[in-house]
Amino acid sequence: MALKSNQLTPNLTQLTKFGLMNAYLVREDDGFTLVDTTMGAARDLIAAATDAGAQIRRIAVTHGHGDHVGSVDQLREKLGPDVPFLVPEVDVQILAGDRSAVPGVQRGSWPKLKTSPDQLLQAGDRVGSLEVLATPGHTPGHIAFRDVRDNSLIIGDTFHSIGGLTVPSYFSLPFPLPWVGTCDRAQVLESAKSLAALEPSLAVVGHGPAVRDPQAAMAKAIATADQKA
Ligand SMILES: [Zn+2]
Repeated sequence: MALKSNQLTPNLTQLTKFGLMNAYLVREDDGFTLVDTTMGAARDLIAAATDAGAQIRRIAVTHGHGDHVGSVDQLREKLGPDVPFLVPEVDVQILAGDRSAVPGVQRGSWPKLKTSPDQLLQAGDRVGSLEVLATPGHTPGHIAFRDVRDNSLIIGDTFHSIGGLTVPSYFSLPFPLPWVGTCDRAQVLESAKSLAALEPSLAVVGHGPAVRDPQAAMAKAIATADQKA
């Protein structure tokens, strides 16, 4: 099944699998940065980039869960080693099977990847136009990306937007899965607050639709999460 493609800005296209899992194409001068990969979607991700008029030049992920790294090995088989794989530094230790390296609970699915990372991402790093932000909580090494061109945020799973913008720090319907997978539920709320403080122009998430001018919706999601904490 092809991915649903939705161009959100001149630089950002959302690709959605099964109406549930998002990946993003971020346009740069040399082609696309692919952020997150959904699962089993390598062929469709490559086709979507071709349709959008450029090639995938690098693959970056917000965190190590299976629904975000799930197409990485296939992508590398098809695109070759010249397309680097960029992973948050802390999560890569868990992906490598070294759970002792990271304290706390590691919830969610952590597939073992054949692809070894080419670059370990830390807060403050730049990936083209994207600035790396540390947003631990959902996973210990979780990161977000801020496009410095327009202050849009690629958030990963620190919020989701199925049934409205939500912080996965507490059980909520209709989509409790991000909560089930959240490793540190107090920390994810702190990271959500740090993202809201950036006053983004656009918020895109791992699960659910994009939210334009998201400041009021983020504040409401945080207030609800604070009440449940
Ligand atoms: Zn996740």
